[in-house]
Amino acid sequence: MTKDQSVERLTAVLQKIAAAEEVREGDPGPVTLVAVSKTFDADAIRPVIAAGARVFGENKVQEAQEKWPALKAEYPDIELRLLGPLQSNKARDAVALFDVIESVDREKIAAEISREIARQGRSPRLYVQVNTGREPQKAGIDPDEAIAFVARCRDVHGLTIEGLMCIPPAGEDPAPHFELLAALADKAGLARRSMGMSGDYEKAVIYGATSVRVGSAIFGARTYA
Ligand SMILES: *Cc1c(COP(=O)(O)O)cnc(C)c1O
Repeated sequence: MTKDQSVERLTAVLQKIAAAEEVREGDPGPVTLVAVSKTFDADAIRPVIAAGARVFGENKVQEAQEKWPALKAEYPDIELRLLGPLQSNKARDAVALFDVIESVDREKIAAEISREIARQGRSPRLYVQVNTGREPQKAGIDPDEAIAFVARCRDVHGLTIEGLMCIPPAGEDPAPHFELLAALADKAGLARRSMGMSGDYEKAVIYGATSVRVGSAIFGARTYA
């Protein structure tokens, strides 16, 4: 994938999002495209920034620390989101670097984030990740516990939760998972729903996503070291 291809693909993804926004029912508000740049270096990311993308997602705190401080210094209006599981010993670094953390999924992480917000005076926006498929290996809180957990984040930890995030099981129709996430967000009184990836972001928009997380459809196939 050349740099030019990534810019063409970004344009195509934005057009598909706009088309899906036209046909969905209701109006949950404009959809934010999160360009997922994990495994891609600053040279691959720069053309996508230059083409206008301003919201980026990464999976690992350490990988993000290696490339984003310099890019954020160049482009101060960039919003950086943590999408991957957060270990409590990384909460300090995550609060320092990210503008949004989408993977709040357990009591201990909520407590650590709360402590770091107080200590650093920096408040990333927060999403609770829900394990809609109840997959044992996957991060996210059980759907049955999600609403109570959002309340505990607020009442016990003093955190403002902005929305819910899910990653449907691979190889399954994502629609029931998108519906479940939207219903849980409604019940919890949360306006934002982070759902949909390269394979299903248009469907996610139809089902009420307010942000979609698109990696390979913009940057090309990933190779893991
Ligand atoms: C990698 C990743 C994405 C993007 O995946 P693509 O299929 O490449 O679009 C989205 N969300 C999360 C949480 C990810 O880890």
